Amino acid sequence: MKLWEYVIHADKIFDLTRPEKVQAWWRELSWGPLGDWPVANNWRSNVLALRSLAARLKRRKLPRSRRPVSMKERVSEVDAIGRGYVGKMKRSLIYEQSSPQLPLSASNFKGVWNLPTYKLPEPMKLDAEGTKTIDRMAVDPFSDPGWWGSMLARATGNPASLWANDADVFWQLVFDSLFDENSFVPVFCGSCGDSLGTFTDGGRQKRRRETCKACQQRAWFKKQPVATRRAKWRKDDHKKQERKKGSKR
Ligand SMILES: [Zn+2]
Repeated sequence: MKLWEYVIHADKIFDLTRPEKVQAWWRELSWGPLGDWPVANNWRSNVLALRSLAARLKRRKLPRSRRPVSMKERVSEVDAIGRGYVGKMKRSLIYEQSSPQLPLSASNFKGVWNLPTYKLPEPMKLDAEGTKTIDRMAVDPFSDPGWWGSMLARATGNPASLWANDADVFWQLVFDSLFDENSFVPVFCGSCGDSLGTFTDGGRQKRRRETCKACQQRAWFKKQPVATRRAKWRKDDHKKQERKKGSKR
């Protein structure tokens, strides 16, 4: 699932307009923030905006209880929320990490993506006099190795983290995945919510697969007749006993 679809899916289960439900969802997610991370004041309107845009742009049928009723009359406000987050992103040339100094070539050039930006703790000077400053910075997916990991980091001191500054980066990625068909934002497992990455091994962009391998296996196993399942349990149990014996020796 694309990120926006995954959030709509989680909203169906949890109702993400309610702060305590958002925190329950975060606790289940492997990439949710740690502890009692506060749900920002603008979170609710962002969820309502996402419902409204998913219904209008993607023709998503939402359950009655998840219709963006309270924002029905304020569609321009809703659209401004989506526009605002996409406006924070920076269109950037992407080339592979190992070759930043090499001239661009067919093998190191990866395309042009909208990257999320995060607010710097202090404005950064671009010249000695400090007349030119920037206060936002784009995440750099290749010269900052493991950028996705560090954005997902539960450590909340990191301004580039998904959840810092009222989940600023998270919402940029959600709306980018909705508006841009070729968004680089990874796809997610609709069952456990784990990230499945952006590209296939062949370098193609991932799109269709809805669940991860582990969840597919679990679902397959559940459909098997009881006898097959019992046989597997017995086998697993036998293996466990063997391991126990082994560790006693
Ligand atoms: Zn899964």
